[in-house]
Amino acid sequence: MSVQDGVHAVEEIAKNTWRIDESGFVNCYLLTGKTGALLIDTGAGAGRLRETVEDLTDLPVTVVLTHGHCDHAGGTGWYPAYRIHPADRAPVYRIMSSGLAVKALLNGMKNKAPAGMTVMPEFPKKPFRAKAVSLSEEQCFDLGERLIHTISVPGHTRGSIALEDEKQKLLFTGDDINVSLWMQLPGCTTLQEWLPGGRKLLILAKDREAFGGHGSGRQSIRQMEQTVGLAEKLLGSPGLYGGRGTLTYPDAETFPQIVYRSRTLRKNRTVPA
Ligand SMILES: [Zn+2]
Ligand SMILES: [Zn+2]
Repeated sequence: MSVQDGVHAVEEIAKNTWRIDESGFVNCYLLTGKTGALLIDTGAGAGRLRETVEDLTDLPVTVVLTHGHCDHAGGTGWYPAYRIHPADRAPVYRIMSSGLAVKALLNGMKNKAPAGMTVMPEFPKKPFRAKAVSLSEEQCFDLGERLIHTISVPGHTRGSIALEDEKQKLLFTGDDINVSLWMQLPGCTTLQEWLPGGRKLLILAKDREAFGGHGSGRQSIRQMEQTVGLAEKLLGSPGLYGGRGTLTYPDAETFPQIVYRSRTLRKNRTVPA
């Protein structure tokens, strides 16, 4: 793994595919084909993402976001435009991915950076005010002899997507099935609405390598199974949950875990089949 700008470390995870790790906090992924490149997420905006990407490819880069949170949308300003699911252009997500939210996040990261972690540099001035372009449902990106499909998985946000490279058997899940699955934020769906997408990702991951938006990126089948299992258990056993404010199941020290609010668990009492 090589560090390009003091903030972004690059790891080749498959042929023509790189994980770009922003200070150990969040991951972007760069995929190249014969004629184009796809950048999945843009980090929180620290460092000089575009230079890191240009060190890896000369091909024209299309930017796509797995969802509209500031830790994934912070670097969009390095590019003139980015693709996002139309549901994540709603005001709640625009606020959560705004320049102010990004700045607050970077400042928080600077203050809390553990020993050994690269401290975030000052918020960089970006050349563009990037234009949001809506993805169509189940869109496909043709990178030249490499097709990347989007898969709608509403949950962590209404417009969350995963991306799939069927030929190279890779799956990029964003934040939708993380080891700590955050379902407590404004704009998260109910856990009941998340469950079909979570199950879909689990089925797809059985014969693909799955990579998520945080940590080392690698996601095991076991973790994904456990996360889906936790959701099923929560939805199937009303006695398990309760209380006010933000709750964590099974508890804050155990992983995988689901962070939620009791009122956002379900719309009705039937667990979807
Ligand atoms: Zn997120
Ligand atoms: Zn995230």
